[in-house]
Amino acid sequence: MNAQHHDSSAHPSWSFTDGRSMPVGTLYCIGRNYADHAAEMQASVPTDPIVFLKPPAALIPSGNTLVLPSWTSDVHHEVECVVVLGQDLRDCNKHDAWSAIAGVGVGLDLTARDVQQRAKSAGHPWAVAKSWYGSAPVSTIVPFEQSAQGPWDLRCSVNGELRQNGSTAAMERSIPMLIQYLASVFSLRRGDAIFTGTPAGVGPIRSGDLVAGELGTIARVELHVG
Ligand code: MG
Repeated sequence: MNAQHHDSSAHPSWSFTDGRSMPVGTLYCIGRNYADHAAEMQASVPTDPIVFLKPPAALIPSGNTLVLPSWTSDVHHEVECVVVLGQDLRDCNKHDAWSAIAGVGVGLDLTARDVQQRAKSAGHPWAVAKSWYGSAPVSTIVPFEQSAQGPWDLRCSVNGELRQNGSTAAMERSIPMLIQYLASVFSLRRGDAIFTGTPAGVGPIRSGDLVAGELGTIARVELHVG
């Protein structure tokens, strides 16, 4: 695949493998949803989900080149299963949560770890560390009915070297539980998505790296670090 520089002027859209597209809404991201990653961060699995947001402009399609921000020297990859919603949701049961899923893909929750650690120490929010332009590379989205509905292996490699090797079966909170929780707090919209957390093995990426995330054999995201 040829690397492309991302066009920042267009409103981002989800591209589905069946040719559909959908405008990108809010990206809801879940922290510490895998016990092994919480442990590597010297943190516990929280009682209530940790939620943070990325704006639509954070999303870049697979295959693009991203120049890392100058204000961080420690950007980490976090490979995650990404769930795209196909309908609006406000308070829902588990069945409605499943029915609202339009598709699934794989994304990288790119994190300025140095900035995040300073924010954590000061008790400040994570928005700058997590939500910057280009911080959410995501694959083409697989229609949910064609996805076998999980669980899927979840892997990340950097320059062909395997760094993260988990399974969505190890989520502390399942996909419908996360949707139900978010729908009880926010008003979810068609085109919103959920980054469902990362397994252990996060680490730095650098200029010149090729980062690849995989959700089983159904979805793949590639990022060229410029
Ligand atoms: Mg994450």
